[in-house]
Amino acid sequence: MLKIHPIPAFTDNYIWAIINDETQEVIIVDAGDAEPVLEFVNRENLTITQIWVTHHHSDHIGGVTALANAFPNAQVFAYQNYGLGQRINAENLINLSEIDSFTVWGYWVDIWETFGHTDSHFSFLLEISEQTHIFCGDTLFRAGCGRVFTGTIETLFESFDRFAQLHDDETLFYPAHEYTLSNLNFAQFIEPNNPAIAQAIAHDSELREQNTPTLPTSLADEKAINPFIRAVIAPSDEMIKTVQTQTGIEDDSPFEIFKALRQLKNNF
Ligand SMILES: [Zn+2]
Repeated sequence: MLKIHPIPAFTDNYIWAIINDETQEVIIVDAGDAEPVLEFVNRENLTITQIWVTHHHSDHIGGVTALANAFPNAQVFAYQNYGLGQRINAENLINLSEIDSFTVWGYWVDIWETFGHTDSHFSFLLEISEQTHIFCGDTLFRAGCGRVFTGTIETLFESFDRFAQLHDDETLFYPAHEYTLSNLNFAQFIEPNNPAIAQAIAHDSELREQNTPTLPTSLADEKAINPFIRAVIAPSDEMIKTVQTQTGIEDDSPFEIFKALRQLKNNF
């Protein structure tokens, strides 16, 4: 059986550990810092067999070299751009641009290009008993989305459009940051009368008071509370009104609303 566990790192990162409790092996996703990961795998007596990297930001790759040195047989799945291949000192580096799927422990993993936050950003879609678990790095956060750094708003929109079209509402997302409460505050500013957002604020605030992660999050939840997914699918009248009042734009197409939302969030 697989168990998925968040290892907190820095101030608000989660490094996801996918544990096979039959083999005592573990996959580490976005190892920004080696220390908490080593502490966790040593305590749980686990062997790292794979490291998955969504994108090149240092809070996602900073610990990869140390972990690959500690577990020299571990395969590292990463995109070889930005000199990442050189920064990750691993013999078993697998370039994400050369594969679009693989299997691990008999489970299927699809690799999706989910660009936008950066100009190369990948998501890993792990299928467990017909449920999809998406390790989406800094593309989608609970109730929010990643900032556009070296990517473009157009590619970020395409990434969200792809997520929105997933047919199973039980699909789970495992973002790399705990940004939920600030995202929900922005979501409520955009749609003040959306009851699902008010419920999520009450629910998630309680979790955070107990220092419990608000993640993973489901596609069903995101369709109810995430302004960016909601814009991609069909912006609500209330959302259009807020965005038009705040920005003065007249176009209410999903893309223009999505783009305006990202700009508003940057200054929120
Ligand atoms: Zn990032």
